[in-house]
Amino acid sequence: MERLQKVVAHAGVASRRKAEQMILDGKVRVNGKVVKELGTKVSNSDTVEVEGIALEKEQKVYFLFYKPRGVLSAVSDDKNRKVVTDFFPEIEERIYPVGRLDYDTSGLLILTNDGEFANLMTHPKFQIDKTYIARVKGVPDRDKLKKLERGIKLEDGMTAPARVKMQSADPKQNKSIIQITIHEGRNRQVRRMFEAIGHPVQKLRREQFAFLTLHGLNAGDARELTAHEVKKLR
Ligand code: URA
Repeated sequence: MERLQKVVAHAGVASRRKAEQMILDGKVRVNGKVVKELGTKVSNSDTVEVEGIALEKEQKVYFLFYKPRGVLSAVSDDKNRKVVTDFFPEIEERIYPVGRLDYDTSGLLILTNDGEFANLMTHPKFQIDKTYIARVKGVPDRDKLKKLERGIKLEDGMTAPARVKMQSADPKQNKSIIQITIHEGRNRQVRRMFEAIGHPVQKLRREQFAFLTLHGLNAGDARELTAHEVKKLR
């Protein structure tokens, strides 16, 4: 659901301010009825008319993207850093990332123009599993990994139980590779969890989001989600 003035403005009919005025002036209809209430929520199934002309409905699109490191999970940046949508120059729809990966984190990110879908995918209630591969400093012992599994205290509260698997330990080089699956999505959560057990993350990649994987993709590649995948995620 989106606010009516946003839908009208996004259709390119007018600026946000002007769209609001058009609504107040009774020039906008939703499903045939004049709506003068600013903030009225409409969905893609509603027909919106402005001065008698129906707005075209934007097709919903869904992409699975392998975000490289050094790219911002945003659609623009005032410091001119590379952003994820730079990798989609041909796409006319206004896509944006579903949730975020840190600038220095690589891996699986979904982009869409479907706000309802994006909300579902990021809502804590749905507890979608996200699996990361972390290269961390040192070799955490069993007790520390258990702490991560059970839940660990961070500034913003205890973390929910996680699944943790040591993939390789390299005491000589003072590093290990650890797979961790969490269903929360707090800011910099995986980095903060490892920091809390004294083994800071040196490199982080998201390998999996629900049942989706990076299979067949290299950093910077994207593919459309199939209709079946979108349906399964909902
Ligand atoms: N956890 C992090 O610390 N960073 C990410 O980008 C994603 C999860």
